[in-house]
Amino acid sequence: MDLYSGYISRLIEELSALPGIGNKSAQRLAFYLVNQPKEKVKKLSDSIMEARDKVRYCSCCCTLTDQEICPICANEKRDHHTIMVVENPRDLAAYEKTGKFEGVYHVLHGAISPMLGIGPGDIRLKELMQRLQTEEVTEVIIATNSSLEGETTAMYISKLIKPTGIKVTRIASGVPVGGDLEYIDEITLLRALEGRTEL
Ligand code: ZN
Repeated sequence: MDLYSGYISRLIEELSALPGIGNKSAQRLAFYLVNQPKEKVKKLSDSIMEARDKVRYCSCCCTLTDQEICPICANEKRDHHTIMVVENPRDLAAYEKTGKFEGVYHVLHGAISPMLGIGPGDIRLKELMQRLQTEEVTEVIIATNSSLEGETTAMYISKLIKPTGIKVTRIASGVPVGGDLEYIDEITLLRALEGRTEL
C-alpha cells in the first residue's frame, strides 16, 4: 500500500538508498524537502548535478577534484618525494586538516577485501605504482585504516614497493581498530603519523 503520494514514496526510496540514510531519516528528509521553497530545493538539486558532472579524479593522486591536477599535487611547495597513501578523499581531508603533513597523497578509493571480493585491481594501486616509476619518491607512508581491510592493503602495498628500494612506512596503530580515519581527532592523527614505523 502506498501510504504517501507516489512522488514522495519515490523520493523516500531514492534517499534511503544513500549511505547512512535509513528509512526513517529518508522519510524525514523527504517531508522536509517538499515543504521547502522551490528555489532552495533547486539549489540543492543543482549542486548535486554539478558536483556529479564536474568532479573528476586528479590525474596524479586520484583524489576528487574539479581540475586535471588537484591543488595539492599542483602545489610546488609540497614535498613531492613523500607520498601518503590513504583509502579515500575523506582521509586525505582529515590529514590536511592537521596542517602538518607537507608531502603529497595517493588516494586508493577503497581497500583490498577478499571477503567483499575487492581485489588489488579494484583500487587505484596501478596508478600508485606508475607514480613510483615516473616520480622521484623517497618515502611512501601507508595510512590505510587499521581495519582488517586496511591492514591487508598495507601489507600488500609494502610487498609491492619493497623491491623498488623506496622506504615504506606504516602509520602507528594509535588509531583505534576499525576506526575510520575521518572520525579521529587531529592529535591522534599526528601521533600516528609521527610514530610511523618502517615496514
Ligand atoms: Zn592530486
